[in-house]
Amino acid sequence: MVAALPWPSPLRNKLSKCGEFGHWAWNAWRCHSPACVRCRSLYSSGQKKQLTTTLQDARNADLSMVTIMFAVANEAESIGPVWIKGKSDLRNRVNAMRRENARWDRVVITGWMEADPIVFDDLATLGSQQRTMLASLNMPAWRADGGPAWVVHLHAVAHHPAIDWQSMNAALTSQWPGERRVHVQQFSEGRSVESNLSGVVSYATKYRAGRWIGAGYDYWPAPWMAEYYGWMDRFSHGWKSMRFRMTQKCSVEHAPVNDDDIEPMYSTCSFNSYPILYTDARWSA
Ligand SMILES: [Zn+2]
Repeated sequence: MVAALPWPSPLRNKLSKCGEFGHWAWNAWRCHSPACVRCRSLYSSGQKKQLTTTLQDARNADLSMVTIMFAVANEAESIGPVWIKGKSDLRNRVNAMRRENARWDRVVITGWMEADPIVFDDLATLGSQQRTMLASLNMPAWRADGGPAWVVHLHAVAHHPAIDWQSMNAALTSQWPGERRVHVQQFSEGRSVESNLSGVVSYATKYRAGRWIGAGYDYWPAPWMAEYYGWMDRFSHGWKSMRFRMTQKCSVEHAPVNDDDIEPMYSTCSFNSYPILYTDARWSA
């Protein structure tokens, strides 16, 4: 990764220093950049622990992995606006569902952004599933410099104890229509909740150095890595901006907390204190 970056660059400097001892009281200095392989895996472990704790009483049947393909950004610098709009649309969709049906109040979603590079020539070599998915997205303005457009998407854990995964899928598909654009996959009953959660978080926060095209793995050219991780490092403020989180809607005493910048922010309302039964009627106090 470091070798892929231009020299000098702030990110290159940061990644080279990460893990060095002695900067502060002989503790290893960490860069906390999402572009850093070491810090990425530390972050991923922390998120697994946090989710496992928060969802320790959850059942596999009430958990799904949600993938949403938002749109194609023309270049890395345009990923940010697509992601910000995608997050806002998702929040608005869940809120709209909550206004219709109080069963949505308990939905909790935690996920992360990823973007896959694509160049015009790929259209001829992609598998049929990828082609089908791309057909439902906007066609990017292909770059004169041959650099990639970026398919911006979200992988998330959804806890939906009062609605089934089909309803979740239907609501999200109405927001993002098109074949293979939304995918809601139930957690496997053959594995523990903890193991399923860990698998999704690993997948959603994985380090990207290449991609699958047809049956072959294709490593990203160095300039693509520099473009993607350089953008991410400038955009992310140490991961927070790469994450989507929406907590359950609670009673008035516990207003919903949806600010991406506050930590910790899992909902504090317990199921027991929730004032209503989960009927289809909207609750009004
Ligand atoms: Zn680091």
